Amino acid sequence: MSYDQIEVPENGEKITLADDESGELSVPDNPIIPIIHGDGIGQDVGPAAQKVLEAAAEATGRSVEWLRVYAGQSARDKYDENLPEDTVQAIKDHRVAIKGPLTTPVGAGFRSLNVALRKKLDLYANVRPTYHLDGVPSPVKNPSAMDMVTFRENTEDVYAGIEWEAGTDEVQQVKEFVEEEMGYDETMHDGPIGIGIKPITEFGTKRLVREAIEYAIENDRDSVTLVHKGNIMKFTEGAFRDWGYELAEEEFAEETITEDELWEEYDGEQPEDKIVVKDRIADNMLQQLLTRTADYSVIATMNLNGDYMSDAAGAQIGGLGIAPGANFGDGLCLAEPVHGSAPKYAGEDKVNPTAMILSGRLMFEYMGWKDAGKLIRDAVEKTISDGDVTYDLERQIEGGNKLATSEFADKIVENIEALS
Ligand code: NAP
Repeated sequence: MSYDQIEVPENGEKITLADDESGELSVPDNPIIPIIHGDGIGQDVGPAAQKVLEAAAEATGRSVEWLRVYAGQSARDKYDENLPEDTVQAIKDHRVAIKGPLTTPVGAGFRSLNVALRKKLDLYANVRPTYHLDGVPSPVKNPSAMDMVTFRENTEDVYAGIEWEAGTDEVQQVKEFVEEEMGYDETMHDGPIGIGIKPITEFGTKRLVREAIEYAIENDRDSVTLVHKGNIMKFTEGAFRDWGYELAEEEFAEETITEDELWEEYDGEQPEDKIVVKDRIADNMLQQLLTRTADYSVIATMNLNGDYMSDAAGAQIGGLGIAPGANFGDGLCLAEPVHGSAPKYAGEDKVNPTAMILSGRLMFEYMGWKDAGKLIRDAVEKTISDGDVTYDLERQIEGGNKLATSEFADKIVENIEALS
């Protein structure tokens, strides 16, 4: 294993795929884990998360050897490119990695590096758990009703990057094709136009829904909800719903029932050994998150819906400073917080690193380090319950002790040591 630009730590071993064709990982007690601190507040939350993750690993008899890799501004500064091939290759080679946020310019400029990374590594499921930690202030009355995991399809939909800019020959060709060949001659207004394509495939849908149902089975969840806007976008979002139900029937007939079957065969009483597969239209779902929060457990949805929904759900459990996430492919995990690079706070040692720390918890769980993951959750919860918080939570609670990012991470480390 050699790279042109980065140096692999001498101590530490690689995580590999197990030899038994199970698709499981073989994880040493001293794994090498690539980390991208990221743009903007990445320079604050990255080191804070590293400190906490190291402490949790150590408290459970392990260690982490970090392999610093670069993307975004730090890669431009160091190598004059946005996303070096070494970075992508190092994540592929080491199978499990964590990243902070990366800035994407709006309109002109380069395309999203996050989207590029997900595509290059075929990280097809973006998993975003939203659960409430004791002591975290929330805008809703009963935040602990939310305990949901969103599986967002990561490679398709309007995020696929198939789009053409107004004023180009390409957009004109596509417009003419759609109007003249496909017969939509009264649909698009004259004048400058931008056009994008929304691909939703059976393959992409089924592998995502499979992950969501498998997760529900492994974690004793009671339902999987397919969220779509299939009433309007019949052949894309409607197809997602249909293929989702089809997959459940084809591959999980023993373990799942539909909502109709729940009422017809079980009189609405959920049997303990069955997962209910249901679907909701996306706009309704956004209000159901507030009004019937506890009815939803695992969500499977397409890229754009998943992005909106998980930010809204994140707000209910305390905001973007809290909400963790991770991208999964086959035998690959790239953990990352839901939030962006919040440039106005960059380098101020101010923002909340919880989202990045809990993303690390997800990564540890994927590695089978459930004890370390639980320790992280307990220590974060204790720190916040004690009133030791960053600015975002301090402004919402009375008598909170406002800490800098680094001080907050130090408190969590103290609590990890005290709890272990
Ligand atoms: P953002 O960076 O998530 O920040 C929006 C607001 O959320 C902040 O002003 C702050 O609110 C709050 N916030 C975010 N992270 C926080 C943290 N760790 N602690 C406390 N509060 C936090 O969203 P944005 O301003 O829309 O996006 C900025 C850039 O990030 C864009 O270039 C965008 O493309 C990129 N982005 C990257 C990713 C990714 O890398 N996966 C994801 C989303 C966005 P208050 O000011 O109200 O406190």
